[in-house]
Amino acid sequence: MKNWLMVLMMVVPCTGAWANEGGTSSGGTDNYRKEDGAAWFLTVGGKKEIRVCLVTDKNFGIPVPELRAKVNASFAKWNDYLRVKRWYQADLFVTALSFMSQCDGSEDLRFYFGAIDGEVEKAKLGHTEPFALTQLTTFDSAKGWGKGFVWIAPPSSISANVPNWSDPLNLTAILLHEVGHILGCSHAVGTIMASDLSRSLKEDYLLEWRDKIEHERELLECTECGGEFTGYPREWAFPLLVGRQPIGDESARYIKNDGVRRPSGTLVLKDSVGTYKFAVNPGVFVGRALEENVEVFKVRYDGYQDGPKNRGGSVYFGTLTTLDGREIPISFKENMMYAIEISAIPAEGEKQQHLFYSWGRY
Ligand SMILES: [Zn+2]
Repeated sequence: MKNWLMVLMMVVPCTGAWANEGGTSSGGTDNYRKEDGAAWFLTVGGKKEIRVCLVTDKNFGIPVPELRAKVNASFAKWNDYLRVKRWYQADLFVTALSFMSQCDGSEDLRFYFGAIDGEVEKAKLGHTEPFALTQLTTFDSAKGWGKGFVWIAPPSSISANVPNWSDPLNLTAILLHEVGHILGCSHAVGTIMASDLSRSLKEDYLLEWRDKIEHERELLECTECGGEFTGYPREWAFPLLVGRQPIGDESARYIKNDGVRRPSGTLVLKDSVGTYKFAVNPGVFVGRALEENVEVFKVRYDGYQDGPKNRGGSVYFGTLTTLDGREIPISFKENMMYAIEISAIPAEGEKQQHLFYSWGRY
C-alpha cells in the first residue's frame, strides 16, 4: 500500500523547459514541481544500465546515431560532474545507457525527437509551447527504478527557427537540462538547470555555457574541492592587510586548499609593488542562509526521500593571518553566486571591513 502511494506520488508530470511566449507562462519559468522530481534510476535494485530508445521524426534534421551520441554524452557529463564534485552518493545514480534498436514498450526511457504520439499530446496539455518535456510515468520505489520519457520539440515548431536544433549547442543544453531532471535536480538559476533556459535558447543568446552544467554558480557544493577564485580586493584589503593603499593595478584571488573543508586557503593580494599572501583559517560554521535552497540529485526509494539542500551558501567565522603575524577575525561567505566574500569583523560600532569579493571559479 505504501509503495502504491509512492508510485502515485511519482506519476505527476515533471515538465521541462518552456518558452516564454506572449507572457502566458510565468516569467519564463516552467511548471516543474521540485517535490515530484526525484531521480528515476538508482542502483539500489541492482540495475546498471538504463534501456533507452529513440522515436525520431524525419524532419528533426539530425541523424539517429548523432542523437544517440548526444543523449549518451548528456548522461556521461552528469556522471562526470557527480565525481568531480566528489558527491558521496554518486554511485547511487545509474547513468550508463544501452540503446535499443527501436521502442517496444520494454524500454526504461524513451526519447522523442520531434515525433509525437498520444502520450506526448497528453503531457503537453495545459502547457504553453514547450521546448521539451520530461515525464516520469511509473516508479517502483522498492527497486528505485522508473519509466518515463523526454520529448524534444520539432525544429521551428514555436516560431521561425525556434527552437533551432541545427545549432548543436542548443540541443546539448536542452538534453543536459532534461537529464538533470531525470537525476532529481530542481531548477536553479545560473546553471544549466535554469528554469528560463528555453528563453535563452529562443532569443538565441550566445551562451558560451550551453554545454556546461554550471556557469554563474555552483549547482552542487563540493566541500572538499580546491580551486582558485579570482576577484578583486575590497576597500579594506590593502590598508588593513598590507598597511597602505594599493599602487597601480590591483588584483586579488583566493586559493582554496584541496581535500579539506572550506574555507581553508590563501588570500593573495597583488599590486604593482608586490604580491602578498595571507592564510585564511576556518573557524566556526555559522549558517547557510544566503540564497534560496534548491534540491539537487534528490532520491526517493523505500519511503526515503531526500536531496542535498546545499545551495544556501555557507557563512563561517574564522581568522586571517596578516603579514606581521596578527590573527584578525573574519567572516567568510560562500554563496555560490558570487563565490566568495571575505570581510574583517569590525570593532563594535564600526562598518564592515570588506577584503575580497570573487566573481567566479577558475
Ligand atoms: Zn526544467
